[in-house]
Amino acid sequence: MATIQQKVDAICKSSPEAARKLEEAIAALEKTTLSGDASTDPIARLGKGFQTFKTNVYEKDSALFDKLKTGQWPKYMVIACSDSRVDPATIFGFNAGEAFMVRNVANMVPAWEPSGGYPSVASALEYAVKHLKVEHIVVIGHRLCGGIKALVTTEEGQGSHDFVENWLEIGKAARAATKAVVGSEDVDEQCKFCEKESVNVSLTNLLSYPWVKEKVIGKKLSIHGGFYDFVEGSFQVWDLDVNVGHSRKF
Ligand SMILES: [Zn+2]
Repeated sequence: MATIQQKVDAICKSSPEAARKLEEAIAALEKTTLSGDASTDPIARLGKGFQTFKTNVYEKDSALFDKLKTGQWPKYMVIACSDSRVDPATIFGFNAGEAFMVRNVANMVPAWEPSGGYPSVASALEYAVKHLKVEHIVVIGHRLCGGIKALVTTEEGQGSHDFVENWLEIGKAARAATKAVVGSEDVDEQCKFCEKESVNVSLTNLLSYPWVKEKVIGKKLSIHGGFYDFVEGSFQVWDLDVNVGHSRKF
């Protein structure tokens, strides 16, 4: 059976008019997808970004991308905020296949619930731990987190959004700790404290998943808190509780 290319070649040979029309159609398609001013056309910006990636990364490391066609073996699961300024792939320079990632408002991990709770985070966690067998889970908070500011400044049931405040209630223990320790400080100081304390709440919640706890006890999985301060340009990492555990700052 003739391939599509053979059929196209046959048509072009038999009809110069068909060949010309085909060339025009291909040129129009290329113009639509690849051209345009990337500084003013948001979709052309995506096309340009992809072409740069394809040339500089995908085509230069064909061994890696050939291997990734057969599966993925990430060592890390990273849970970070959706904030556009804190992309872990950018901060750490991850290669494709290196980190399994969840990003949500204020980098929250809900506690395990028998009824299912928040299946989006839980299902990603289950897949990463049970099937991909990641060795490290890192929950990363960050400076000037809008979600944490909303958590600190909004009392339960008083939010103005349909979803945000309800989601942030996952971190209400962090808000309570913040009010108890630095409640008399200004909002920014409270946020600084809560941005890290909410990570500790997420680490504690991670241990509520039986298969996470089992692997942590068996030393097959370790969980870490992280904090990215893009104001001062630093990154801090700790195990479970920054206030009592050892932390490393970079
Ligand atoms: Zn954030």
